[in-house]
Amino acid sequence: MLSRWDRLAARDRVWLEDGGLIMGFTTHKDWVAVDRDHVWHPYSAIGADLAVFPVQSAHGVRLRLADGRELIDGMSSWWSAIHGYNHPQLNSALEKQLADMAHIMFGGLTHRPAVELAQRLVALTPDLLQTVFFSDSGSVAVEVAMKMAIQYWAAKGEGVKQRFLTIRHGYHGDTLGAMSVCDPATGMHSLFSASLPQQVFVAAPECPFAAPSCEADSQAMAAALQEQAGEIAAVILEPIVQGAGGMRFYSADYLRRVRGLCNQHNVLLIADEIATGFGRTGKLFACEHAGITPDILCLGKALTGGYLTLAATLTTYDVSHTIAGAAPGLFMHGPTFMANPLACATALASIELLLESPWQARVLRIEKGLHDGLEPCRELDHVSDVRVLGAIGVVELTLALDMKTVQPAFVEQGVWVRPFGRLVYLMPPFVIEDEDLRILTGAVVSVVRRLNEVSGRLAPLSA
Ligand SMILES: *Cc1c(COP(=O)(O)O)cnc(C)c1O
Repeated sequence: MLSRWDRLAARDRVWLEDGGLIMGFTTHKDWVAVDRDHVWHPYSAIGADLAVFPVQSAHGVRLRLADGRELIDGMSSWWSAIHGYNHPQLNSALEKQLADMAHIMFGGLTHRPAVELAQRLVALTPDLLQTVFFSDSGSVAVEVAMKMAIQYWAAKGEGVKQRFLTIRHGYHGDTLGAMSVCDPATGMHSLFSASLPQQVFVAAPECPFAAPSCEADSQAMAAALQEQAGEIAAVILEPIVQGAGGMRFYSADYLRRVRGLCNQHNVLLIADEIATGFGRTGKLFACEHAGITPDILCLGKALTGGYLTLAATLTTYDVSHTIAGAAPGLFMHGPTFMANPLACATALASIELLLESPWQARVLRIEKGLHDGLEPCRELDHVSDVRVLGAIGVVELTLALDMKTVQPAFVEQGVWVRPFGRLVYLMPPFVIEDEDLRILTGAVVSVVRRLNEVSGRLAPLSA
């Protein structure tokens, strides 16, 4: 006789906290209950009364929930799933690599997917960026960039240059080093102040993307560099689009001025393109809007088309050879899963898929669809701004949203939109069709139209 345990498929087995009781999940409601009691989600609290929606599968631009409902995806799983979900070419690249090897250590060994991907990234990015450090997440790519900058100056005998200068409203990741250069308010610095290195912050540019000149805005950075460049290793910022720190777009002229100031004051420039990379802003990389080359470039998110976690930090031969040329003669970082072959092979396939697609025309079409579709929000109560750049559409509100009611309201509309704070934003997969895009923007207009202030937050009245 088979026991009940034997009969349960492995995926249905679970130990509950009350002494190892074994139970099979019969419906998704069972595993969602376990999720609530045992599983952390991003920026979540265990025991909080906030719904998570169980997903069974995802295909194209649709997420299929466990109860059979389908949602049109407006988030690309946080900038990453640019080709949509379950793409045959990405699946096949991953399966093909799996047949050879899932992973090998990168210390003392190498493999073709990593080398080919590095070659590809070097070819796609500005000429001076010639070397690639692979890591497993965007935050780590930022840590690596910061360590490269510190080691570079140490190697040049300027070990006092250890600090970083950045602009407010930035977001660079959740690890401690990356957090130290995130916006102090949205990054909750006060909670962690004893653990964070103290960096230098200046006001973020106010000049919008279309502004031809941004001289006044760059004064703050000029002044900070004038005063403190001697202790600053690098300026770090997100080029053109500040993502999770406020979804702000700024002028290419500002970026050009920052590049000039960095040269003038002998500090490196780190461009964090983890969100903006791979076409999202209408250029392959956002630095192209300004025609500048950073000394260090961070990539992640859309690198694997949203399949696997992989990030890359690119730099110049000046930085890499300077680090190699002084004690200890090595760059001091090396993740266990560095250059994971499955991730590298999928990234190569994703880049190929992007470049052979009419991605610029698609992003332009999405830009127009977002603009036309979100424009009606501008007239609505509680809306302070509507802005669109490339395949990014943002509706900024006057007050923070009540997530407990807003999230289900979007799901009821058949779309996956995940606002944060005062921002409702869309960044759909590049393959989205016009009709689906209209449903997405229509859902945003419909939910924003119903917003009402309830004890200091905005909540939708029922439809
Ligand atoms: C998401 C993001 C990061 C952090 O990447 P993770 O993969 O979440 O660690 C860093 N910088 C920017 C600009 C990002 O958008």
